[in-house]
Amino acid sequence: MSSDKSRFLLLYGSQTGQAQGIAEEIADRATEQGLMAELRCLGLTEKRFYLERETCAVIIVSTTGDGEPPDTVLKFMRRIRKKTLPSNYMEHLNFTLLGLGDSNYTNFCKCGKTLDARLRQLGATHFYPAGWADDATGLEIIADPWINGLWDALRRQLNLPPGGTSIENDLGNTDKTNINSDVEKIAMNNRNSSKTDATNTQCGLEVHVENKEDAHVEKSNRNTENMSRTWEADIMSDSHISNKCVGDMAQDAIGDMKKDANSIRKIGNNALTGSLVQSLPPLSESDLSLPMCPTRYLSITYHEDESLDVDSLPPQNGCQFPSARADVSMATIVSASRMTRQDAVKTTLKVELDISACDWTYEPGDSVGILCHNSAEEVDKLLDRLDVSAELANKVCSFSVLCDTKKRNPTFPNFLDPRSTLRHALTTCCEIRTVPKKGFLRTLVEFCDDPAQKRRLQELCCKQGAGDYTKYIREPALCLQDVLAAFPSCSPPIEIVFEHLPRLQARAYSAASSPLATPGRFTFVFNIVDLPQCSGRIEPRHGVCTGWLDKLTRSLQAVTPDLCTEMSQLNLGESIQIGIYPRTNLHFHAPADLAVPLIMIGPGTGVAPFIGFLMHRQKLISSDTKVGETWLFFGCRHADRDFLYRTELEELQSNGVLSKLVVSFSRDGATEQGKPRYVQDNLACHGAEVATLLCQGGATVFVCGDAKHMAKDVNDAIVSVIQKHRGNTYSTHLLASVTKYPMSIVKRGQSSHSARSKSLTYGCRCFFYICLWFCTLFPDMLSCTFLRIIGLCKG
Ligand code: NAP
Repeated sequence: MSSDKSRFLLLYGSQTGQAQGIAEEIADRATEQGLMAELRCLGLTEKRFYLERETCAVIIVSTTGDGEPPDTVLKFMRRIRKKTLPSNYMEHLNFTLLGLGDSNYTNFCKCGKTLDARLRQLGATHFYPAGWADDATGLEIIADPWINGLWDALRRQLNLPPGGTSIENDLGNTDKTNINSDVEKIAMNNRNSSKTDATNTQCGLEVHVENKEDAHVEKSNRNTENMSRTWEADIMSDSHISNKCVGDMAQDAIGDMKKDANSIRKIGNNALTGSLVQSLPPLSESDLSLPMCPTRYLSITYHEDESLDVDSLPPQNGCQFPSARADVSMATIVSASRMTRQDAVKTTLKVELDISACDWTYEPGDSVGILCHNSAEEVDKLLDRLDVSAELANKVCSFSVLCDTKKRNPTFPNFLDPRSTLRHALTTCCEIRTVPKKGFLRTLVEFCDDPAQKRRLQELCCKQGAGDYTKYIREPALCLQDVLAAFPSCSPPIEIVFEHLPRLQARAYSAASSPLATPGRFTFVFNIVDLPQCSGRIEPRHGVCTGWLDKLTRSLQAVTPDLCTEMSQLNLGESIQIGIYPRTNLHFHAPADLAVPLIMIGPGTGVAPFIGFLMHRQKLISSDTKVGETWLFFGCRHADRDFLYRTELEELQSNGVLSKLVVSFSRDGATEQGKPRYVQDNLACHGAEVATLLCQGGATVFVCGDAKHMAKDVNDAIVSVIQKHRGNTYSTHLLASVTKYPMSIVKRGQSSHSARSKSLTYGCRCFFYICLWFCTLFPDMLSCTFLRIIGLCKG
């Protein structure tokens, strides 16, 4: 039984529901541990919780956009950032924090790190080390052991005797040693992180101290000015060191998993092959420590003989979309066309929307969120597999919280319309392609009849089978349909499915148009994502949104864009409408001053926003406008297959809007000696001019495209170009920092004149403002990443 003594505050700040999901899981497991979590959203500050009165809190918070807090956390952050707060303001508070982020982007877990550092700066102390979970490697790699170690720490903090109810529902001898060693790993990493919590801030430069002794000396040598530097700066340096530790930790965890998940083992003379449905020793012979089964909480009631126009329901129950700066409105598709040749590796589509009925406008560089639907065929197949008849699927139903649920603080998924149909809810509200989490698999165990299948599902969701889960479920990105196909004796009720499927997120696309050039129109381009059939994936699929848009616009793709426009103007044919909303964009805008030189780097569909920039510039330029050098580095595979916007770009170059168009073809004789293959190779070829534009011209550099590989390679290429063409004038330390930790330079450069002038005394005549900004990383693999670099000082 929980008593007040066992109570702690559990706060979450979520953008897409991941942090909330983890917080809810902790709340559920706390009950089993004999603890009482008071679960609150950080957005409810001053209404439902007062951190000022709490002594023990656990915070789960994600990071979004360009290292920004989730929308719901902004107000709370503003409140605790107030400079007038005394340094002992949170002295009473003992807390821990789990940050969620994606290490593919700079500012990994920045919101969590900022919040953590600020609370500590205000006197709060950790009762358990903070954890930084990385979506790039799998949140659970850090989150699971962090949660396992939380309970003992909470009990110590709450002065409760150790033990309590077992963490796991043991099926055999629980391997507590391993659980503890995971916890120990976190503790060790955090101890290391506090030891290395010294960053040489002399001259305003980020020189990351690897040597712990030096770090100590450095810390004691900080002068008064350094002491008074902003706490944001502290956080930036702190976070880099922690990043490293988290990286190490994730690597350790991944290494362990790989060891677990060897796919072929030799037993006697027989070679056994592991797979989604087949485990190998030692896992197949291990005792398993199963996680607790999530508590059921959702009820569905069917209403006979009622009718409902589901198309008139507000999208996803009118629930606000992340990063939206206006409500969802309907836009009409006026044209759609294929931009690539039939034999191109990828198929690129261009879609033009009429947004004149929307009460917002946009600037080049902005993006919109598009509300997509799941494929009707996939929904049908899922319903069929769940034994839901077509009649039941179309019946009006209402979703509510089970009246006798044992779940603590059960929250109804607010993106589900309380009154809807199963088909409508699955088609428009739930991410049916999501990779089932371990909690979902744990629930499925309960609905599996076949003992062998039950055992395998248990393995996949338990601690001992973490490697198999990663290898056979997370890495191939299987969805519920795939898992159910692999375990045919599993027949979960539909309510379970709605309890576990997350919200269908809107997909983000950049404007490839300018409101000046084409008023009332918004154009975007995208590749149709192909997900081929693979081990575990029962059929080839297209990306959720890109496949849906392709299908939706097939009739328009068959006619020329001009004819499409004419048809829509004459109201011929059926109008196709889609829900969209404009997304907030704080950074990715071209400089208002056209005289500032511009270097744009955008291979593939990464060129989209630059088309918008250039169309806009074309309209702004008149005969007496002073226009800076405008360069575009574009890259594609073949000159004649996937050179997007070729005609438009060549025209923009011939009329002078674009000073230089540099294109690389990665598969047209790219192997020939010295022929540039990628955009970064061309950057090197034009290194002297690029260096001059950056260091003398004060050019702004925008990079847009694949974040995982291209953006990093381009960053490296720019650093090499500067090094080669500006030589020793530039500090090696600075260049290393630029490469490794670009964002720290941004903040220093922006917030402190002294930092900037000191960097000059270091002999650095130029430094960069680099920020990696991403729209979003979606299950579609549509990641939009923008790297923006501004040369701040003129040499
Ligand atoms: P893509 O077709 O995969 O690649 C375009 C070119 O880049 C190819 O020639 C490819 O060469 C080359 N490439 C591969 N690896 C590279 C590397 N490390 N460095 C430089 N070039 C490299 O491009 P895409 O699919 O269009 O991808 C563009 C990215 O931009 C996506 O991540 C997309 O989400 C993002 N984005 C899209 C929008 C939008 O509005 N649609 C907006 C912003 C960003 P090889 O294949 O021959 O190696």
